[in-house]
Amino acid sequence: MREELEIGLCTRAAAKINLGLFVGPARADGMHELVSVMQSISLADELTLELAPAGSSQDVVVCPGVPGPAAHNLAARALSLFRGATGWDAPALRLSIDKRIPLAAGLAGGSTDAAGTLRLAAHASGLGEHTLLERLAGELGADVPAALTPGRWLAGGVGERLEPLPNPIGSLGLLVLPVAHELSTAAVYAHADSLQTVRSQRELEDKRRALVTVLSLGTPAPSSDLLTNDLQRAAVDLCPEIKKVLRQAADSGADEVLLSGSGPTVIGLFLRANPLARVARAIAGLPERVPEPIAAEAVGGEFGAVWRRGASQSIGI
Ligand code: ATP
Repeated sequence: MREELEIGLCTRAAAKINLGLFVGPARADGMHELVSVMQSISLADELTLELAPAGSSQDVVVCPGVPGPAAHNLAARALSLFRGATGWDAPALRLSIDKRIPLAAGLAGGSTDAAGTLRLAAHASGLGEHTLLERLAGELGADVPAALTPGRWLAGGVGERLEPLPNPIGSLGLLVLPVAHELSTAAVYAHADSLQTVRSQRELEDKRRALVTVLSLGTPAPSSDLLTNDLQRAAVDLCPEIKKVLRQAADSGADEVLLSGSGPTVIGLFLRANPLARVARAIAGLPERVPEPIAAEAVGGEFGAVWRRGASQSIGI
């Protein structure tokens, strides 16, 4: 274990998009019931866990680009929660995060870093059964459990109830259009509440069944009516630029256009012939765009492998 930590252990923390997001009533604790397909994508942060420099007495998280004290980083909380739950007594560690996922963008960047940290700690320590990791992930946040094993998940409850769905057959090409505006998930839900557009339990159940029926066949994406995002109206109210970006995605040739999570990131889905080549063409057609558009595709469980620094990523260990 010590030798691996001297070399450094790495993993990728994949962003997620929501293929359909249906929001139900708020529970007593303010969290909303929902039904959504969480799809991991190849846009990812890269995490490295290694021994902290000699003389360090505490774990340290280095994550340029994320404001606030490092101890508040969700990845730092994941590491300390893991140590507390397992009694792992490794020497002080340094976790470095190469941040590529835009912040507060509806792509669950913090949640996936926390999940990646749990994978690294479990690998390095040899501790942490999968059921324990799932419990810790749930304590860290509603989007963390789905990020533990990248892939496609049907989320229910307040996001913590997960059913695996098969990976899409063939490529699912994605044009990711970040928006230079941060949206807080809590603010978007609060505004959605004020618009009083929540669905009944029965509607949520109908959507859940319809999504399972179509996606259990490995279909790349559900039909347009199931790609609805119930948070879109609230997100557009708070960030009107989203409307323009939705149009930009449609004009670039995407087969479907959607808002990811609570936004503001917009996603163009490329489903038909040569999706990845068409995404590349769409990006070439937006040379001046700021922030830059990003090409991505759907990824599965192997994307979350852990490897020794310097080893080929394809040799997951
Ligand atoms: P979600 O949909 O889970 O709310 P999001 O993509 O909208 O995710 P994040 O990128 O996770 O939002 O960031 C939300 C806030 O969390 C940030 O503004 C930041 O202050 C804080 N944060 C803590 N740790 C991280 C991290 N590792 N990466 C990004 N943000 C983090």
